[in-house]
Amino acid sequence: MRCRQCEYPLWNLSARQCPECGTPFAPSEYEFMLNSIKYCCPDCGQQYYGTGKNGHLVPDEFDCVGCKRHLHMDEMVLLPAEGVSERQTEFHSTPWIDRSRRGYISSWIRMIGWSMARPKQLAEGFPVEGGLGHAFKFALSLWVIGLLLGSSIFAVLFLLLSFNLGGGFGIYELYGLFIALISGIVIGLLGTLVWGCVTHLLLMISGGSLHPLNRTLALGYLANGPMILLSIPCIGVYCFVPVAVAWAMISYSILIFYGQKVSAIRSIFSVLALPLLIGLVVGAL
Ligand SMILES: [Zn+2]
Ligand SMILES: [Zn+2]
Repeated sequence: MRCRQCEYPLWNLSARQCPECGTPFAPSEYEFMLNSIKYCCPDCGQQYYGTGKNGHLVPDEFDCVGCKRHLHMDEMVLLPAEGVSERQTEFHSTPWIDRSRRGYISSWIRMIGWSMARPKQLAEGFPVEGGLGHAFKFALSLWVIGLLLGSSIFAVLFLLLSFNLGGGFGIYELYGLFIALISGIVIGLLGTLVWGCVTHLLLMISGGSLHPLNRTLALGYLANGPMILLSIPCIGVYCFVPVAVAWAMISYSILIFYGQKVSAIRSIFSVLALPLLIGLVVGAL
């Protein structure tokens, strides 16, 4: 957080003017990485962490738990959190969060890339507060568009076949395809929900996590990116399922490691337990 006029660092100040050039500032005009900022009460020094969008406090107005003073985040003294350098507080937004500004389609495509290749940055930049809703909308659009693309070739084939055979429009086949499509979307989203619940339960049993269940669920939906492999036409639905699931498991483990601040062993164990159990049961049948 630097003065907009002279670049003077504005940390550890209760005054709201730059000490160097006198330009006024407000912390809410700046954006920070999630959890990177310590907000201190100017009266009693009580510390709060910025877990909201742009690393801001949520709510931004409240009564101090230390001294009961009514505080707004703009009145507080800001410092980088322990173990965080000033550079690491600088904001890098995740593509999906600012989709209204950057455009939905490019945000969606970039988000799939982040889910598959940059889970660390995703876990660090994605907000805790309100994150689950954003993550669910990403996963929903992913399953709908992915499965539509994946099944479109079948729809065209059915139509062509029915014309060639001269019998109707293949309406029953299309209806069957539609049912399969809806089932796929529901299974994908419900499956991720169950997977997230089991993962969080195992995190709880093995010693807890930094954030509550909604964070683990949000990270699970963010790990859905590799499922776009299922949209590769024709062969995709059959051939790429193991690859997509394995990729999602790796992404989810990394997301949990950075997003819930647990050890590598615990994040891998919690994420892999359910899919491996299902694999064993299916293999035994
Ligand atoms: Zn200044
Ligand atoms: Zn206080």
